[in-house]
Amino acid sequence: MKAAGIQVLENILCADIEDWYHPEYVRGKAKDKVEHISVSFSKTLDLIEEFNAGATFFIVGEIAERHPEILDDIIDHQHEVAFHGYHHEPLWILDADVLRKEIEKYDSLVRSITGEKCIGFRAPSYSMDSRTSWALDVLEEQGYVYDSSVFPLKTPLYGVPGAPVTPYHPSSNDITQRDGCRRLIEFPALIYPILGLRVPASGGFYLRLLPFQVIDRAIRKMNEHGFPAVLSIHPWELDDCTPRLTLAPSKLFVTYFNLKATKRKLRSLVSRFRFTSFRNWIEDHGLA
Ligand SMILES: [Zn+2]
Repeated sequence: MKAAGIQVLENILCADIEDWYHPEYVRGKAKDKVEHISVSFSKTLDLIEEFNAGATFFIVGEIAERHPEILDDIIDHQHEVAFHGYHHEPLWILDADVLRKEIEKYDSLVRSITGEKCIGFRAPSYSMDSRTSWALDVLEEQGYVYDSSVFPLKTPLYGVPGAPVTPYHPSSNDITQRDGCRRLIEFPALIYPILGLRVPASGGFYLRLLPFQVIDRAIRKMNEHGFPAVLSIHPWELDDCTPRLTLAPSKLFVTYFNLKATKRKLRSLVSRFRFTSFRNWIEDHGLA
C-alpha cells in the first residue's frame, strides 16, 4: 500500500471495550466478575469527546449484548463500533467455524442496535499471527474491510516479528507478506524503530511503561513517512477503581503497572495529535 500523502494529519485512536476481567493474564481468574464497564466506558468516551477526537471502539460481544446503550453512545457521538471477539478469547483457542459464528452473531446484534455493518476487527490479545492467519480469510468472507491485530514484534504473549509496520494487505499463507489479491487492510500496532530495533509504542501497557516522548516520537515518525499511527487504550486503564488480582509478578507488572499514568499521558497525546476512527480514515482515503 502506498503512503497516504506527504503529511498525514489524522491518526487512529482505538478503545478496546473490555472489562477488567477480560485481559489475557486475568481471564478465567476472577471469581466475582463485578462489572465496571459502564463507568470505565463513560470515562473513556468523556476524555475522547473533551478533545474532539474520533475513535474506533472494538467491543467484546458479551458486553455489547448486555449494554446496548454503550453502542448507542458511540454512534450518537459519531464514533465507530467494531469487533473485539465475543468473549475476548484469543484466536489461538478458536477455529474458523467458531470465529465465523461469533462474527455473524455480533454483526446481527450491532446491526439491530446501530443499523450499521461492522467492518473492523481486533483480535483479543493481538492473537493474529502465523498460527491464526486463517482468520484473515474469515474476516474478508464476512465483509470486513480491515483488521488491526498484528503486533509487528515478538513479546512473551504475542507478536509477528518481521511483519510490515505500516498498513498492508496480508497474505494468509504468510502473514508477514503482502498479498496483491487481498482486499482486507491490516493496520499493525504502532512501533518506534530505533537503532535497528522495534520498540512497542501502541498504547496500553507500553503507554504506561515508556516515557511519553517515545510514544510521541513514534507517532511523529509514522506521520513523517505518510502513514497514520494506531494508538490503543482500554477503559479499565482509565478507571481508578479497577480491581486487582494476585498474579505472578511478570503478569502483575504487565497488567497493572503505572495505571495512574494512563489518563495523563493519553490527555497529552489527544491534545497534541488529531485522531479519527478507522472507518473515517479508510473512507477519507478512498479505501472502502
Ligand atoms: Zn482486549
